[in-house]
Amino acid sequence: MSDAISLSQNAPPQTVAPADAMPPAPADALDVGGFVPMSTVDWPDRLAAVVFVQGCPWRCHYCHNPGLQPRCAHPAHGWARVLETLQARQGLLDGVVFSGGEPTLDRALIPAIRQVRVMGFEVGLHTAGLYPERLAECLPLVDWVALDVKTDFDDYKAITAVPRSGDPVRACLDLVLASGKPHELRTTWHPDLISDTMLMRLARRLKAAGARRWVLQSYRATPSTEASLGTGVRTPPDELVDRLRRTGLDLMVR
Ligand code: SF4
Repeated sequence: MSDAISLSQNAPPQTVAPADAMPPAPADALDVGGFVPMSTVDWPDRLAAVVFVQGCPWRCHYCHNPGLQPRCAHPAHGWARVLETLQARQGLLDGVVFSGGEPTLDRALIPAIRQVRVMGFEVGLHTAGLYPERLAECLPLVDWVALDVKTDFDDYKAITAVPRSGDPVRACLDLVLASGKPHELRTTWHPDLISDTMLMRLARRLKAAGARRWVLQSYRATPSTEASLGTGVRTPPDELVDRLRRTGLDLMVR
């Protein structure tokens, strides 16, 4: 999942497509925890709907949507209802982004991607890189992927609270880079979570792996994060950004 996401409630579909015009929802439907029918910020240069898939086993200190972490017996939005809304917006949206939580957790993700492709949408994927095998299945089906690289792989536990959680991310990074798919790598910056030394080490690793586009995201406090990480926005200092850029990476701060 992406670190900096906004979860808003689904507006009711403006029109409901007849059932026989809809791709059938699989019996094992995607576990949807939230849905944004139109977004300009979740996929660069695309107008996209965003589907937030429920569930993530990590516990990142800065998670903006801790409510999406548990797998929920009663998800907030039905996948069939999401499909209805998408059907009504064909021609108005460029694509659909699957975010989370961690979307690759859900074994219904791939059938869901196939369904929206059949409807004519491009597909974007936000992932924190927990499940390399499922990501490998997804990559041929997606048009763009945003992979969180939270810190240097050996330091992941400090952010996710899960031992060895950097190992699958390392594998996912290799998969994304080898796929040739348009992508961006994302790291949320906060001085208490990632030191300058760690960040430089990460930059060199990304460069050595063949990465090009890297986005440093400023930490933005939410009610669920401000007790531990403080209020407001924390933006990486210019001097640090300059040093990171000298590695040769295409680095953007936002
Ligand atoms: S990986 Fe999981 S816990 Fe961490 S920010 Fe993403 S959804 Fe939240």
